[in-house]
Amino acid sequence: VLHQIKKIDILAVGVHPDDVELSCSGTLFRHLQLGKRIGLLDLTEGELGTRGTSEIRKKEPFDAAFILNAQFRVNLDMGDGFFEYNQFNIEQIIRVIRACEPTIVLCNALEDRHPDHGKAARLVSDACFYSGLVKIQTKDDVGNIQSRWRPDQIFHYIQDRNLTPDFVVDITGFMDQKLYAIGAYKSQFNHESTPEYASELTSPISGKDFMDYIVAKARSYGRVAGFEFGEWFNNSRTPGIKNLFDLY
Ligand SMILES: [Zn+2]
Repeated sequence: VLHQIKKIDILAVGVHPDDVELSCSGTLFRHLQLGKRIGLLDLTEGELGTRGTSEIRKKEPFDAAFILNAQFRVNLDMGDGFFEYNQFNIEQIIRVIRACEPTIVLCNALEDRHPDHGKAARLVSDACFYSGLVKIQTKDDVGNIQSRWRPDQIFHYIQDRNLTPDFVVDITGFMDQKLYAIGAYKSQFNHESTPEYASELTSPISGKDFMDYIVAKARSYGRVAGFEFGEWFNNSRTPGIKNLFDLY
């Protein structure tokens, strides 16, 4: 479907389908309200996760994409846990970037408890660079040669480990929507209220205590900047601003 994708403002990428919802969906809801268009890209289907069959895990991200009002959600199925930093995978990401021409790319944390996160961060941010090189030729799914495109900014959402953030996005007013989007992954979270998955093993993220932690984390991430709720980000380039009053 790459040739049908239209230009968007923000491409949010996650190596596992729920990374975006857990770590930067409040930011996406805020920018949707500002009239921005968003697209979603997953690198794997998260098939190594403890709970849920692969069929269920294929469907849930689309429920979440609907809640997030995303223009599209693409899954590159690189293989959870074993995806490689190689030319083929970089080109797959470039094809999506060139199809949707995002101004901003959000992707996984530079370093984290889950080894896939840092690995994916490098893969995506390098693909953003290579996507701007005219001599790397790619085609969309119907054989059209794609034009080069380099996003202006890549921001890494902070996930499990509390890395030192470079900036905080105020997500006050969007916390309920964030939890609703996370809740689309019914097989993964809130096991106390999903009796249909009672036979599955529980995991450190499947209970209500994990959702309480997500809320507490957003509160503590917001607090450093004076917001009720926040999401933290790192960037690999020094950002420039033209108006000091844009900073809170
Ligand atoms: Zn993940």
